[in-house]
Amino acid sequence: MTTDIKKLEKWLKKKSFSIIFDKNVYDYIDFELNTIFIRSTLSNDSKVAGILHECGHLFERLNENFNEMLPTINRIKRKNSLRCYIETLTDEIIAWQIGEQLIGELKLKIKVEKYRRLRDVNIKTYIALS
Ligand SMILES: [Zn+2]
Repeated sequence: MTTDIKKLEKWLKKKSFSIIFDKNVYDYIDFELNTIFIRSTLSNDSKVAGILHECGHLFERLNENFNEMLPTINRIKRKNSLRCYIETLTDEIIAWQIGEQLIGELKLKIKVEKYRRLRDVNIKTYIALS
């Protein structure tokens, strides 16, 4: 386990969240189980970037303005609408941005440039899937 992952686990623990690494999952955060799932077969940098991104989603949830900011995805209405797509994309990009801020705040070792490269690849898949 890298020091970055340990620092993130500690940070998450204060928010009552934990991380489970599993080879059969895609990275996601479960707000009912208070758990972040991370694919265990990823490289260390990808794991760190994935955890940071999910921490970004956690941060968004803790922000009380979040529901007003992205009302459509949160009401799960008109799921296939352009509005929902744009809000989902916004949600993902904001989560990546918050994750990047945490690199500095927690003094992590992952390079910002490396993180941004992984962010770019992930955001490209969200766009490609639409
Ligand atoms: Zn996400």
